[in-house]
Amino acid sequence: MALTLYNTLHRKKEKFVPLDATGKTVTLYTCGPTVYNFMHIGNLRSFLFEDILKRTLIFSGYDVKHVMNITDVGHLTGEDDDSGEDKMLKGARREGKTVWEVADFYTAAFKHDYLVMNMTAPFIWCKATDHIAEQVSMIQTLEKKKFTYFAGGNVYFDTSKLKDYGKLAKLDLKAEEKGKTKARVEKDVHKKSSHDFVLWFTKSKFDDQEMKWESPWGVGYPGWHIECSAMATKYLGSQFDIHCGGIDHIPIHHTNEIAQSEAALGVKTWAAFWLHNEFLVIGAGEKMAKSGENFLTLDVLKGRGIEPLDYRFFCLGTHYRNPLMFSWEALDGARTARKRLVEKVLELKKEGAVALAKIGVGGQSYVDLFAAAVFDDMNTPRALALVWDVLRDEKLNASEKYSVLLRYDCVLGFGLADLAEDKIPAAVLTLAQERLKARLGKEWKKSDELRDQIKELGYIVGDTKEGFELKKI
Ligand code: AMP
Ligand code: ZN
Repeated sequence: MALTLYNTLHRKKEKFVPLDATGKTVTLYTCGPTVYNFMHIGNLRSFLFEDILKRTLIFSGYDVKHVMNITDVGHLTGEDDDSGEDKMLKGARREGKTVWEVADFYTAAFKHDYLVMNMTAPFIWCKATDHIAEQVSMIQTLEKKKFTYFAGGNVYFDTSKLKDYGKLAKLDLKAEEKGKTKARVEKDVHKKSSHDFVLWFTKSKFDDQEMKWESPWGVGYPGWHIECSAMATKYLGSQFDIHCGGIDHIPIHHTNEIAQSEAALGVKTWAAFWLHNEFLVIGAGEKMAKSGENFLTLDVLKGRGIEPLDYRFFCLGTHYRNPLMFSWEALDGARTARKRLVEKVLELKKEGAVALAKIGVGGQSYVDLFAAAVFDDMNTPRALALVWDVLRDEKLNASEKYSVLLRYDCVLGFGLADLAEDKIPAAVLTLAQERLKARLGKEWKKSDELRDQIKELGYIVGDTKEGFELKKI
């Protein structure tokens, strides 16, 4: 069965075929978080869609080499036009910490949220600040190829030098030139065109920028876009299969990643497929944002009795390319539905259901229907509906139902297999991760309280170099 994915580059669904000649491995780059605050649940919707993509690729038989960056420098508050200050600095000022402390704390918090939502960790998470040399080297290549200019203390990418600049966003540069469409109003007087963007900042930005490095253009720091180009190239090569992010990245961040990568690497198509998720919206269709009032985190949801996996269930009920409307009622509905699913799976186990190595014809037809749903550009609402069809089908015995659901769970990721086996309960893992978060934030009292709560649930938590270990009492 062919896997089709909606490719933003061509605005249509396309059959997915990996670049790897053996057809085995898929290379995937996903734009990661900017670690100056907690992730809001809109951000998590974005990472979840990428997790479903990865699981779908694995379900269809591929190995996936997934790289995700951690943005800890260079992402400015004025997202579109290189204006404003570094978000990290904003976070540090808000909390009275150094930018490095802020980055460490929110990176740990991000990983915690990512894991408790049962998202599969990437092959590599790479920090922008660990890859300054790679970014400098790519800018030097662009400079040698005459794609840059130096003005007002910054190195800019000259978008006029690239024939197909803006192809992802379908920017009509000719119409803009003739004034038929509105060009962005530019605040930076040094730019030759409003589309040009900064590759390396030196003098033009803030004396109190804490993160800065030597470079051929002076002490400074990289622009936001270059980190993704440099790290994707380092870990995945000069061409790779799929690149993802939220729809807000299409006009600027991804457009600029494509421009500088294709210019530096001399390739026609850097990433073959570009996939983007729609927003989680709240109230009157407002995007959830880190700076707005509508800032909901997993912790806030937890306070209302909604577990991370309930939120996962809620998200999967809407296709990733449709806006997802937030409401507490809908979240309560998802919680109830997931609870029912868990109960049903436990009942099947009680009836003696076992995971079958080979599923019979009746069960297999449900696996095929599920594959058809997820291979159709990850139609998770259709896939979720099949879960209930399987449970209702009286022609299937307990083991068949259980085995089909386990296959589904490879993509849906509700941890159904862990439920029935003697695995560390999710609650214990969550508490241990929270304790790690507390320790990283030097909140010793909270850390001790969490250790006691874990003990009450029958586990002893210890510290290790990687994080923690859990032993049953
Ligand atoms: P950031 O940490 O701001 O770089 O964002 C991380 C990811 O979340 C990016 O891919 C964004 O496009 C995505 N994102 C931001 N806001 C929302 C939202 N309200 N709904 C869904 N995705 C979002
Ligand atoms: Zn990126």
